[in-house]
Parts: sequence; C-alpha cells; structure tokens
Amino acid sequence: MSEEKSLNFLEEIIENDLAEGKNNGRVHTRFPPEPNGYLHIGHATSICLNFGLAKKYNGKCNLRFDDTNPVTEETEYVESIKEDIKWLGFQWDNEFYASDYFDKLFAFAVTLIKKGLAYVDDSTAEEIAATKGSTVTPGIESPYRNRSIEENLRLFEEMRAGKYKDGEKTLRARIDMTHPNLLMRDPLMYRIKNEHHHRTGDKWCIYPMYDFAHGQSDSIEEITHSICTLEFIHHRPLYNWFIEQLGIFPSHQYEFARRNLTYTVMSKRKLLQLVNENHVSGWNDPRMPTISGMRRRGYPAEALRQFSDTIGIAKRENIVDIGLLEFCVREHLNKTSNRVMVVLDPVKLVITNYPEAQEDIFEAENNPEDPNGGTRKVPFSRELWIEREDFMENPPKKFFRLGPGNLVRLKSAYIVKCEGCKKDEQGNVTEVHCSYIPESKSGHDTSGLNVKGTIHWVSVPHAKTAEVRMYDRLFKVEDPSNEEGNFKDYINPDSMHVLPAVYIEPELAKAIAGERVQFMRKGYFCVDTESTPDKLIFNRTVTLKDAWAKEQKKG
Ligand code: ATP
Ligand code: MG
Repeated sequence: MSEEKSLNFLEEIIENDLAEGKNNGRVHTRFPPEPNGYLHIGHATSICLNFGLAKKYNGKCNLRFDDTNPVTEETEYVESIKEDIKWLGFQWDNEFYASDYFDKLFAFAVTLIKKGLAYVDDSTAEEIAATKGSTVTPGIESPYRNRSIEENLRLFEEMRAGKYKDGEKTLRARIDMTHPNLLMRDPLMYRIKNEHHHRTGDKWCIYPMYDFAHGQSDSIEEITHSICTLEFIHHRPLYNWFIEQLGIFPSHQYEFARRNLTYTVMSKRKLLQLVNENHVSGWNDPRMPTISGMRRRGYPAEALRQFSDTIGIAKRENIVDIGLLEFCVREHLNKTSNRVMVVLDPVKLVITNYPEAQEDIFEAENNPEDPNGGTRKVPFSRELWIEREDFMENPPKKFFRLGPGNLVRLKSAYIVKCEGCKKDEQGNVTEVHCSYIPESKSGHDTSGLNVKGTIHWVSVPHAKTAEVRMYDRLFKVEDPSNEEGNFKDYINPDSMHVLPAVYIEPELAKAIAGERVQFMRKGYFCVDTESTPDKLIFNRTVTLKDAWAKEQKKG
C-alpha cells in the first residue's frame, strides 16, 4: 500500500532537507492559482501534491491567488477556486493574495533601483523584443540602461503616480544582456496597465510581472518548497537572483511535469473559449475537464485524489489516458453507490398469468458491495417496462435474455418464460409476453430452475420519469491541442445525447442533486444540479464497462 511506495523526487528532496535540518525542520508549500478561470483536473493534481506534501510532513500549505494581472481576473473565479479545493478535501492554512503584497513589491523594486540593479526603460515592447538577441546571439543594451539612480527613482515614482500611458515605460532588472539564459537579459519587472483590479481597485496603474511577484510572494510567506510546472524551469535562475539581491527569505523552486489528459484540452484560455462560444453550457458543464464539471458529472473527490496519487509526479511532460481517471471513478462508485432500476429505451412486458389487480412489493438490496447498504422497496405488477434490447424475436444461440421460449430472471423478482410478442403494422415490437413462475420468487426460489440471464425492469403503473443526459468525449481525437489547425475543429458533435423521459423506479424519484447511483446494467449516474423534484435530471457519470482495466491486463 502507500507506505510501501517509494518516495517521489520531491519527497526525497524534502526528506533530505529535513535530515539536514533546513528551515528548522519546517515544510511549507503553497498552491498559487491565477484567478482567471475555473480549476481543471491538472490543477487538481497540483493541489493534491502541494497539500499532500504539507500533510505528510506535518507542514503547512497556503492558498495564494496569483492576481497580478488585472485584465483577466475576477472574483467569481476566486470563489470557484476555493469551493473546488474544499470539495477536493483540502483546507489551506492561510489565504493570501499576491495583490496584498503590491506595496512590499514596490519597495523591493525601489531597493533594487537603489542598488543599481533596476532601471526605467522608455523602449517600446517591439524594441525590447528586437534587442533581446537569441540563443546564439547576445542581446543589445537599452539606451536607457545607464540612467542615474536618482532619475530611475523619480521615473518609477511617476510611473506609479499615473503620469504615463500603457506601454510608455517599463521597469527592468539590470542583469546581463549577454546572459545565455534569455530570461536573464534585463527582464521586465513592472509594466503600466491603467486597469481596474478586482481587489486593489484603481490604487495601482503599474503591475509586477510574474517573475517579480511569484518568488517574492513565496519569500514573504517563507515558503520552503515552491513547486511549479516544468515550463518555469528556465525562470529558476531569475527566481534565485531576485531573492539573493534582495537578501530575503530563500524559498526554493522545484519543477514537475504538467499533467494532461486524453480527449480534452487543459488550458484555461482554451476552456474559456469553449464557454464563451457556447460549445458547452458553462465552466461546470459535465463534459468539461474542470473540477466543477467533474463534480457535477458525479466524479467523487476520492476518485480525483486516487487518480492524482496513481499517476504520481514526473519530470517529463506526458498525457494520461482518461481511462485511468474513469477507472478510479468506477472503483469508488462501485463501492458506494446504490443500485437502482431504470429503463432507458422501454418496451412493455406483460405477464399474462399475473392477475391484473395484484401487486407485489419486493425488498431489493441496495448495494451488494456494501453489507450496510440496506434495502429498498420495489413494486411489481402485471405490466413492466423493460429495455427494448432485452428482447429478440429471433435471437442467436447465446442470447440469454428474452426470446420466444427463453427463461430469464427479472431482477429481485420472478423468473419469467417468454411466450412471444405483439407488433404494430410496421413490424415494431409493441409488447413482449411472458408467464411467470410463482415459486421462483427471489430469495425464496423453490423452482429448481437455473437461468443464465437477469434483466432489470420498472413496474408500469408505479414508474416515474426523468431526463437522462448521456455524455461522450468532448473531443474526437486524443490530443486536440497537438493536431493541425484549431483545437475546436476536433470537438465531438455528439458529446451529449439527451433522453427526455426514461422510466425510473418510484423510490428513485426522491433523489436529490449530487446523489450518485448505479443504473443497473447501464452505468453510474448522478442527479444534476439543475434537477428539481418535478423534473429529475440525471447525468451519466461513467459507463460500467472497464475498457482501461482490460487493456492493462492484456498489456
Ligand atoms: P493553464 O495553462 O491551464 O491556464 P496555469 O498554469 O496558467 O494553467 P495557474 O492558475 O497559474 O494555471 O496554475 C496554478 C498551479 O497549478 C500552478 O502551480 C501550475 O503549475 C499548476 N498547474 C496548472 N496546470 C497544471 C497541469 N496540467 N498539471 C499540473 N499542474 C498544473
Ligand atoms: Mg499561469
């Protein structure tokens, strides 16, 4: 089990640090989302990692909103992020905002100017880009690079005071325009953005760049292990440079590979396009790879945590089979969800020897996997709904469901013998006829009959109806972001299929939003957030079939 699992590379680093007595034996991580969208399953793995390490080593984990870009950030996103983290089962030790540090960051910038390590540049964005150089050619120093400290201090104050328009001036670190790492060639620290910020309002018109906010925020919070994704590996020297020059708490950055999932996209920018262009109904559409979408679809938080734990962490980017996530979902739902009978594509079954006025009530087991799962009452009568596909007029040899002469068990009820069917003028089956065997009652069967097939059913006069939404992959290809053209060209047009009125057993009509059940033989379903007692709506969470596990066994 998990105790026997070998340490991942971050756990190794932490255990080494602890052995050496670094940070007074303290482990402090943080999860730093930018509130510019809803969290997705990739974030979920980062949450599990950061909160998980803090928990494992008796440390702390902060939630820090990396809200340094006023243009894309909104309070709605902040609230959704908090809700998602709590739902995943984690609680942060502190809630911080990078924007709370704007005054401190400004003071840090002034410190660097005073040390001759930062300057105000009047160059345009194009000029700065053109003088950056390349991996094989050095950069060219800006004509403004050697301004006096006094002039830089005055201009930076003026930038803050709103004297300049967007793009007119920037503050740059004065490092080395010939540095082999392009990010070290006088990187931007501040840019002018005359924009309203969701927390600081109009107090600021200059905003720090990621590189001049992230490490400093880590340091202010005395984060010991700052874990980020691999694309920031080249930023690490700059992260360290700022901390060293400022002489502030030495947080350290460690990188791990981003997690991607097949048949979906995972960048907030792309997910926002799907929302804004109405390809989905919102961030929490059950087809979205967002945490809120998965929650609404019926994925249990435990399954997301198990998934994250199973894939572990890596140092190389990879794409994880969505089948593995579905496997985790199924595994959990199999143990926890009650079995119910729902007929999706109905045809009527008439039990010809069952008296018309008679009714039976069967006590059905809720969950064979859970000894404490209890039972529920299921009414039975002469007319039942069954699945159309469970009857064949001319069945092949190994068809163990209903066909003329076949014996089948009706789940939790009786064995019936199929006598035939009734058809309309077009030849469609309108009724299946059977006779039942009274001494075959489930649990009290003295018939001595041995039947191979069991089918589910719902009593016609007792049935209630519900809408069912069947979902398929949102994209037709494994990695839509890596295909030619636009990722939206690969959207699956059949990713949702609505069954407006299926028949459900009466007990199920009491189900409330979020409740998860197994429709016997059909899959796992969850009551949608839009469901009401008058109009029940179910989402298909996942099918019963376990293609991924089968593949694993084969391999
Ligand atoms: P996106 O590109 O999807 O918008 P992001 O990295 O810009 O993601 P942030 O809000 O900056 O989103 O991310 C918060 C944290 O989650 C960061 O530490 C980031 O590295 C991590 N993270 C984001 N996406 C993934 C992923 N696919 N796998 C693992 N960690 C991720
Ligand atoms: Mg980001």
